Amino acid sequence: MKHIRAVAFDLFNTLITVEPQTLEDANTRLFASLSCSDFSLEAELFAQAHHRAAVRHIKESRKDWRETHNSLWISAALEEYNYFVPPDDSRIALAVDAYFSAFMDHCRLIPDTLEMLTSLQSSYHLGLLSNFTHGPAARKLLSRVGLDVFFGVVIISGEVGYRKPHRFPFMKLVDRLGLPSHQVVYVGDDPEPDIFGAKQAGLQPVWSTYVRDLQLPHTAGILSSGQKVPQPDVPTISKWDDLFSLLRKDFVK
Ligand SMILES: [Mg+2]
Repeated sequence: MKHIRAVAFDLFNTLITVEPQTLEDANTRLFASLSCSDFSLEAELFAQAHHRAAVRHIKESRKDWRETHNSLWISAALEEYNYFVPPDDSRIALAVDAYFSAFMDHCRLIPDTLEMLTSLQSSYHLGLLSNFTHGPAARKLLSRVGLDVFFGVVIISGEVGYRKPHRFPFMKLVDRLGLPSHQVVYVGDDPEPDIFGAKQAGLQPVWSTYVRDLQLPHTAGILSSGQKVPQPDVPTISKWDDLFSLLRKDFVK
């Protein structure tokens, strides 16, 4: 790939996984935080209300790919208990932090990821673009697993307002890298946001099937995306050595 000057990555299930119990633990911590803030709730019913609100807001965000935020879901779930609390209330902010603390404790790097990035950074600019509702948690997570030091550019959907596959976060990525989009490879696991999105924005997509192939324990997210497999002309990697081979080969036609 002689024209490629930057390699950018998705985060979840591309560079890291979070263990299958993460969402359940996150909900337990969310509930504990709200209870500490003196909301009187019933754990299982509140979890169901929160899940309904999350699914509703996530589906809504898929109409125009404007990012949603956890504070909206919590505010909506509290309304079912006749607590009318605006999303920017400090008690909701505490609950959001409690929710994401579970992600910090249950995240795992994909094997050999730090070594792969160390090797790539001598030849390429490195970027990260993640669909992540809450920017501060995304950045904390990156630093927690030691990924923050590698990326000159980090774009988080919750900070820029739009989710992949919308073009906007990809354009932010290439603008910040200071490169034309065709000189940027984008590696991701999820066909619709990562592969279709990158392709539509003019980047070179690479589909990573590592987590799927090795059946690594992971969390797929609250609402998985529709498309399961990208078009057959998209290069696929199932281990980091495959990425090095692609970059050596000039697969740009
Ligand atoms: Mg992913």
